[in-house]
Amino acid sequence: MKIIFATGAAPAATPAAVIRFVTRDQRAKLAPPVAEEEFSGKANALLYSRHDATLCVGLGERAKINAHTLRSAAGAAAMFLKKIGRTRAVVRLEDWPKFAGPVVEGLVLADYRFERFKTKRTPALENVAIHVLAEDLVKARSAGRRGETIAEAANLARDVANQPGNLLYPESLAARAVKLGRDCKLQVTVFDEKKLRAGKFGGLIAVGQGSERGPRMIVIEHRGGPKSEKPVALVGKAITFDTGGISIKPAANMEDMIFDKCGGLAVLGAMAAIAKLNVRRNVVGIIASAENMPGGGAYRPGDIITTYDGKHVEIVNTDAEGRMVLADAIAYARLDCKAAAIIDLATLTGACGIALGDTAAGFWHNDEAFGKRVLAAAEKAGERLWPMPLYAEFEDQIRSDVALIKNSGGRPGGACTAAAFLKTFAEDTPWAHLDIASMAQHGKDRADLARGATGFGVRTLVELVAGW
Ligand code: MN
Ligand code: ZN
Repeated sequence: MKIIFATGAAPAATPAAVIRFVTRDQRAKLAPPVAEEEFSGKANALLYSRHDATLCVGLGERAKINAHTLRSAAGAAAMFLKKIGRTRAVVRLEDWPKFAGPVVEGLVLADYRFERFKTKRTPALENVAIHVLAEDLVKARSAGRRGETIAEAANLARDVANQPGNLLYPESLAARAVKLGRDCKLQVTVFDEKKLRAGKFGGLIAVGQGSERGPRMIVIEHRGGPKSEKPVALVGKAITFDTGGISIKPAANMEDMIFDKCGGLAVLGAMAAIAKLNVRRNVVGIIASAENMPGGGAYRPGDIITTYDGKHVEIVNTDAEGRMVLADAIAYARLDCKAAAIIDLATLTGACGIALGDTAAGFWHNDEAFGKRVLAAAEKAGERLWPMPLYAEFEDQIRSDVALIKNSGGRPGGACTAAAFLKTFAEDTPWAHLDIASMAQHGKDRADLARGATGFGVRTLVELVAGW
């Protein structure tokens, strides 16, 4: 999609559809008048007039309008125009120039659809001209370009996340990261099985050993700050397919387990945007990738595994594999990268979805100041996080009789005991954890986004680092 910023009226004989944003109070003044039933003006309500190719998109109550409102409205408009085969659009943004960034994000995110293996494909948007007043042009354009970079990075994350398990596995994910490193001037180091074994990454090795396709740890470095500055570490879980291992999952919906890599892909997408935006901070992305399979070499319940930082973990459930690979990656961020702070993202527990549905990601942290930073970044990004507790009881619940801790505390508070497990490996380093299990993908189209991987977390990570 080519996006340009313009000022003045659109040329009369344009083949483009015109997108107009309409608040609830503006609805009553539309000419010719429309009935409430026809167009409410509520957020993402649509009214298309074929004779002048104008699409009105509702914004709802004026007082409640924010970046998220405009991002979503632009996305809903793009989804609609694609559906009716209109691939050129003019966006009248004169009233809302300060939301140029979110509007571009909404358009770019809505334009993506995973159709690589479909015979019939939805047309992509070709050209979009965003119109603002002359005095707003420079600011709107620069915000729009930034939004474009971030949304394209999120789409990259979505596109890799949507690849099925037979085509995308730890080795091919690592190859994709190496290619990204070349494209964006990021330094990428891949730890293959040999290096992981030599380095005693016990968690990654254990989870990966049931698969023919070995595990990888992918380290992506962006050096935007002074040499002495400690990096922020972005850590992601990338289980390319999760069968549950020996503690195998039931068959229903197991196909969704291709999305168990979405935390890692949020990190990959964020690193791409951070490099392209030339963020002046040192950032290291660490993706812990394995395929959790019940092969003959698989790790078993009862096994005792020693993680990268020498902690002993009793395995009681091989389906609690995400925390095992993250344990190594978090310990590596703390010990080898000397991270100033660590944030991890993972499709970690079904329990988080039971607690919060698909309305918000669960959020835990061990440091007030860092926690506030993460929340502020998510707010700016328009991605919802909900703070969850790290009570001492959760730590008791994962105490083991034969090792330091066990990898599952059972069903009660399952998302919280998982967080307590990860906290053990961050030790005193400021750390935050996002459980994105119910946010990373959805099975149906939404008004503003196609089905499949959502790219959740990319924008929060970029805002966190850029706004530091
Ligand atoms: Mn699992
Ligand atoms: Zn998993």
